Amino acid sequence: MDRFDLVKESFMKKEVPACAPAGKTSDYYGELVFDRKKMCKYLDAESLQALLACIEGGKPLDRKTADGVARGMKEWAIEHGVTHVTHWFQPLTEGTAEKHDSLIDYDGKGGVIETFDGKMLAQQEPDASSFPSGGIRATFEARGYTAWDPTSPVFILDDTLCIPTVFISYTGEALDYKTPLKKALKAVSDAAVPICKYFDPGVTKVYSYLGWEQEYFLVDEGLYAARTDLMITGRTLFGHSSSKNQQLDDHYFAAIPPRVAAFMRDLEIAGHRLGIPLKTRHNEVAPNQFELAPIYGETNLANDQNQIVMNLMNRIARKHGFVVLLHEKPFDGVNGSGKHNNWSLGTDKGTQLLAPGKDAKGNLQFITFFVNVLAAVQKHNALLKASIASATNAHRLGANEAPPAIVSAFLGRTMTDVLHKLLEVPSDTPIEIAGKKSKSVGLVEIPEVFVDNTDRNRTSPFAFTGNRFEFRAVGSCANCAGAMTTLNAAVAEQLIAFKEDVEKEIAKGKKMPVAIMDALKPIIKSVIDTVCFDGNGYTEEWKKEAERRGLDIETNVPKMFCQFTKPASVEMFTKTGVYSEKELEARNDVKWETYVKKVQIESRVMVRMALNHIVPAALEYKGKLLKEVMLAKEIYGNLDNCTTELRILDDINKYVEAVRVKATAMKEARKKANVIEDTYKRALAYHEIAESLYDLRKPIDKLEEVVDNKMWPLPKYRELLFIS
Ligand code: ADP
Ligand code: MG
Repeated sequence: MDRFDLVKESFMKKEVPACAPAGKTSDYYGELVFDRKKMCKYLDAESLQALLACIEGGKPLDRKTADGVARGMKEWAIEHGVTHVTHWFQPLTEGTAEKHDSLIDYDGKGGVIETFDGKMLAQQEPDASSFPSGGIRATFEARGYTAWDPTSPVFILDDTLCIPTVFISYTGEALDYKTPLKKALKAVSDAAVPICKYFDPGVTKVYSYLGWEQEYFLVDEGLYAARTDLMITGRTLFGHSSSKNQQLDDHYFAAIPPRVAAFMRDLEIAGHRLGIPLKTRHNEVAPNQFELAPIYGETNLANDQNQIVMNLMNRIARKHGFVVLLHEKPFDGVNGSGKHNNWSLGTDKGTQLLAPGKDAKGNLQFITFFVNVLAAVQKHNALLKASIASATNAHRLGANEAPPAIVSAFLGRTMTDVLHKLLEVPSDTPIEIAGKKSKSVGLVEIPEVFVDNTDRNRTSPFAFTGNRFEFRAVGSCANCAGAMTTLNAAVAEQLIAFKEDVEKEIAKGKKMPVAIMDALKPIIKSVIDTVCFDGNGYTEEWKKEAERRGLDIETNVPKMFCQFTKPASVEMFTKTGVYSEKELEARNDVKWETYVKKVQIESRVMVRMALNHIVPAALEYKGKLLKEVMLAKEIYGNLDNCTTELRILDDINKYVEAVRVKATAMKEARKKANVIEDTYKRALAYHEIAESLYDLRKPIDKLEEVVDNKMWPLPKYRELLFIS
């Protein structure tokens, strides 16, 4: 099939019907998760109580309880046709890992029976030597083990019971994303509770919430299969931009094409059956770009659900003749994809800590948390950036449609004014909700709801949006845990320090609101001057200004990772119990190694495609032109009528030669980089190669402009981006 047949075929594809749901959403919502309802139905009273104590109190699961829980789970699972079980975990690769075991065992009578016990539920020892560990397992124990995280419910995918687990080395180091995330969530709760107690002594736990917005592209599977670069690297390594891109803004929020809508519906049904509260779906800015978001939930669970959804997206897209692209920058010249992490804190009493309160006390609590979050972001701005950095997100960060590679915070006019005002008024001034009291009483006022939607800034990587912060720089294919671990841990550290400040003020004999406000004031002053920035983050001036303010402006990804082992980061992570120094070093090794491999693969694919696909197509066209020129010479005796052909031939020669020279240079650069022993230095060398990919791309895109459309072997941007 040539390119034209592929294009025609994908254009003609008919809508694929969504699978028929069994009635109303609320009827089938959560049917494939072992949630509280199922626990009550399938567990005996003793096991139920013991399990709830584990979930709520963070107590370890003993063998007897595990056996009791496994019995109930098995009954439920078999009713749903389950034949296999797996521990489901999140190693330091992209995506999740699973190793399925069937439920059978010998029954002693020559046949088999279904078995599933507490041991299988609680712990497994997968031979994990092929997962990245940054050397932890090489120097100590080869094996790792997985252990059930009871706060994340067991679920069924197809015929398999999936048990969400942490993944740890035998010496106790985390080898996954979940373990440090859970530690950070505990740290932020432990640090926030004592501060909440100033306002409500009844608070015993603080939850971190995450609402992710997942952006993605869809491309037709036939066209995708014809692009080696898309298949192997997840992005197009070249491709001349289409005459029409997103300049008309006609895709954002437009009517969803029927074939895409069928995919979305199918995905929602699958998500809802797994208890994932998928809520919002819409077209995004770039052609064939879309977004999906659930209702926010507890961070650990919400992150698991994001991992499940990314998996479901891949599978369900294929059913509809699409491939989903989760890469941050699949196409040059149109927007890339991110995963906004909407983040907030709330107490077990139901109080949202990043939203205005009901009264002056509630508002002071809000301001306290609001300001401390800003302080944490200020102190660790470079580290937060490192937490979202990757070889793939690098193409989006700093590019003009994405948050810049500087982490600052957007507050909006209202909150900026409130902070300025707080610095001016006496520390005992109540902070009132606007309109509730007469102006003269509350000198500082905050509106009850932030309805002003124009007060939004898409250029900021960390924006306050009324009751939460939106960390926008997270990459679309990233595991949110990377960003969420760092953010929650940084906030925990800041809250611990803040508590000490307040205690000092109290020791001076100050009463509560004044003590808190006096501890807050220097922090407010500092964040206003440093991390808070409401202007256009895309400008060159901001880069200069940010540097002047001491914010990190590094754009080199391997260098960014160095932040993790800087003294301030090590102190923060060890103090909060999130990572040991050894874990931090090991993880950096994994990050550099992953970076190297990603760029290496891209570079190999690019060189091979350049030499095997692009150059031959260009030479074929060149041959055709040369024949025409020869013929003209024969007929007319001169080349007077061949100016166009000769011009094109010049261009082809020029660009083909450039491709050859650059491809050869890239190969050489790889050879040199590959023999560098030190992982960090090798990553730095590969960073140079990553930059040179843009260089090699230029003459190839020029050739696409010049070469006969019929002879171009690869689906073009206009075809990939506009068929749905
Ligand atoms: P927008 O596109 O305006 O940012 P969306 O509705 O698309 O808003 O997505 C916002 C996300 O933020 C949703 O997942 C939503 O549930 C989540 N969210 C709302 N309130 C909070 C909160 N307090 N904490 C965390 N996430 C929240
Ligand atoms: Mg948003």
